[in-house]
This record gives sequence, C-alpha cells and structure tokens, in this order.
Amino acid sequence: MRQSQLFTKTLKEAPKDEKSINSQLLIRGGFIHKEMAGVYSYLPLGLKVLKNIGNIIREEMDNIGGQEIAMTVFQPKHLWEETGRWSKTVGEVMYKCREGNKEIGLGPTHEEMLTDIIRHHVKSYTELPLYIYQIQTKFRKEPRARSGLLRGREFLMKDLYSFHSSEKDFKRYYEIMKKAYSKIFERCGLSAIITEASGSGFTKEYTHEFQVLAPEGEDVIICCPKRDFAQNQEIANTKAGNRCPSCKNILNKARSIEVGNIFPLGVRYSKDMNAYFIDRDGKKKLIIMGSYGIGISRTMGAVVEVHHDEKGIIWPEEIAPFQVHFIQVENTGRVKKTSERLYENLWKGNCEVLYDDRANKTIGEKFADCDLIGIPMRIVVSERTLAKKSVEIKKRNEKKAKLVEIKQLSRFLK
Ligand code: ATP
Ligand code: MG
Repeated sequence: MRQSQLFTKTLKEAPKDEKSINSQLLIRGGFIHKEMAGVYSYLPLGLKVLKNIGNIIREEMDNIGGQEIAMTVFQPKHLWEETGRWSKTVGEVMYKCREGNKEIGLGPTHEEMLTDIIRHHVKSYTELPLYIYQIQTKFRKEPRARSGLLRGREFLMKDLYSFHSSEKDFKRYYEIMKKAYSKIFERCGLSAIITEASGSGFTKEYTHEFQVLAPEGEDVIICCPKRDFAQNQEIANTKAGNRCPSCKNILNKARSIEVGNIFPLGVRYSKDMNAYFIDRDGKKKLIIMGSYGIGISRTMGAVVEVHHDEKGIIWPEEIAPFQVHFIQVENTGRVKKTSERLYENLWKGNCEVLYDDRANKTIGEKFADCDLIGIPMRIVVSERTLAKKSVEIKKRNEKKAKLVEIKQLSRFLK
C-alpha cells in the first residue's frame, strides 16, 4: 500500500495520559486510537497486526481439532444463575444492562453459554470429545485499565472449550493444548513461561498461565531460569532464592504479563448445568470440561512491551503489519521512476509492502516513521544505490544495512 494514502499519521509525542510503552508506541505509530481508559479502536496498521495474531491462533487451534463458532456477546442472566456466577466473582466484572424486566450481561467469558449449547446437541460418548472456540470481543469492568492493550475493558480474546467423556481424555488434550499455546506465542515472537496459578473463580485446581517476562507486567512469578518450573506468586509455595524442585537451579522472581490461561474445569459447569452424556456402559455421566483463553489484544501489547527500542516498535515477522517498508528517497528523476517500478513489482509479487511515496516528507522524517512503525525490513532506493544498480536493505532489528542488486531483489526477499 502507498503510505501517501494511509489515513493515519504518526505522532511525535504520545498523549500525556498514556503511561505504558505499548500504548504510547501504538498510538504514536497510528495503530490504535484511544476512546477511553481501556477502550481502543484499531486503525489499519493495528488491525492488520491483530488479525495476524488471530490467524496464527486459528491455524493452531484448527490443527488440534478446533471448530470455530461465534457466540453472542449478550448473555442471558438465567444461564449464569445456574452456576451461581451472575453475582459472584466473574459476575462482578460483567457489564450488565436491563431490557424491560430482563437482565442481560455482556460476555466476559463463555463457559455457561457454550455448556448450554452443548447440552442441547450432545447426547452420547460417540460425539465426544469436542473442541469449540471463538475469537471475540470480551467485556470486563477493569478498575485499573491503565496499561494500554494489556488491560482492556473491551478486548479481543480467543476462548476454546473442550468436552470429554473421561478424565484421561481430558488430560491428553490439556497437554496437547499446552504445546499448541507455546507454539502460538513463539510464532508471535514471545517466549511464554508455563506457570501454575489459581483457578480464579473457574476451578479449584491449579490452572496454567502463559507468562511473558516484562517489567510492565502486573503479575509476579517465581520461576526457574531453565523454565521447567514456575508459579504465580499469588499461589507460590516456594520463593526466590530457593532451589527449583525439578532441576535444583536457584529460583528467580520476575514481573510478567499473562497472555494465556488454560483451565481444567472438571465437572464444575456440567454439574450445575446438567450437561450429561450416555457413556459406553449405558450410564448417564457428566461431561468433563476444559477452557483455554488467549488475550489477542493483550498479546499485541505484550509484543510491543518486549520488542521495541528508543525509536519505536520492532515487530516479529509473522505478525508485522507489512513485511517490507519501501522508502523512496527522492520524489523526482530516476530514483522516483525506479522506486515506482520496484514497488509495483513487489506488490504484484504478493510482497506485503508499505511504500513511503510521500512527497512532503524529508528522508529523516521517513526514516523516523519507519523505525517507529517497526516493519521488519526497510528497503531504500537512492542515487547512491542506483549507481551500483542496487537497493539498500536494513532489518529493523539490525544496525547494519547492505546493498542488494535490483536483479536479485525478488530472489533475496523469498
Ligand atoms: P488478569 O488476571 O490479567 O485480570 P484473568 O486471569 O482474569 O486476567 P482470564 O479469565 O484468564 O483472565 O482470561 C484469559 C486471557 O484473556 C488472559 O490470559 C489474558 O491474556 C486475556 N485477558 C484477560 N483480561 C484481559 C483484559 N482486561 N484485557 C486484555 N486481555 C485480557
Ligand atoms: Mg487468567
């Protein structure tokens, strides 16, 4: 796309009330627009990143049998009363509205809703297991929405729910999910530590959080440098300085961001909501469940917290809004002509390229914007590079630039 047509502009300064690095850089780069505390709109660049993360998650969920659905945001009170959560714990963070004499909640999570759907459709063990997910905007009353995308009152989440006929089958899938989550975060450029945590209203057992080390994080974890052991400080039965129970290294304490959380739910919901199946032996039994969340918008914020420098964002390749930021240094003569031709070729060759063709910007301004926006690769055409029949290529995460012959460019990019 031509940057001259991108309607968003970069800003030199972040808004005064934005304190976190992710919201400062994302607002300055024109990725998001703040509506109110914890509520942001996604602009073209930001939406691209959000969709890229969503698509990675979709791929990995589909790979392990996930079926995508879209449930409603409106949730009827009577379902939440079946589990007693309308007023307790989760109910406290739910936005509620009244229609006539009926009350409706805006979905903060969807255990009740999906359990209701499943009990209408599933009757026999032959129909299990099932893995159902959605990617949807969630709403939660967050009193401390001050960390940009890390804590939204309206935010994007992937939530998957699994339904099993035996504890053994559930455990098998729970481990598969851990691997899928690790892969998702890796593809997003994050190294997530699997951390034991509390059930927080969902279950009495330990759950597992995926924690990314970052000073801006609101969580504190006790973890081993080898990452084979980690506990959220809230439930930790050990402390920093002690030895890791598995590898005996010294444990550290660190701030971190919870990007994902998986929950062994057992029969907590199926029991309250009478979700049964007929087993092989002809007996009526409760469906065993798990739920698995990823904060997609929070993941986007976490990536910025982890991958940036004093000039701007450094997007990991798989989630970057574009792969190449192509910069036209001069708006006249053969530099312009070659730039236009190369841009058209890249575009036609399916390269995701943002072309800085703006005539009213200096080269200094273009480079500063390029560093702020953080596309992984910068390509520059100038008189100097054309003298060598080349373009200059620099990766956002490297200091040195190099020349690549124009003839070789498409091969180089592949
Ligand atoms: P937190 O402890 O940070 O409030 P949570 O444990 O209540 O989060 P879960 O119910 O586990 O959140 O939700 C699943 C995932 O959704 C979380 O791991 C996180 O990535 C994301 N998430 C939860 N709350 C928010 C929020 N307010 N803004 C953005 N993402 C969120
Ligand atoms: Mg959680």
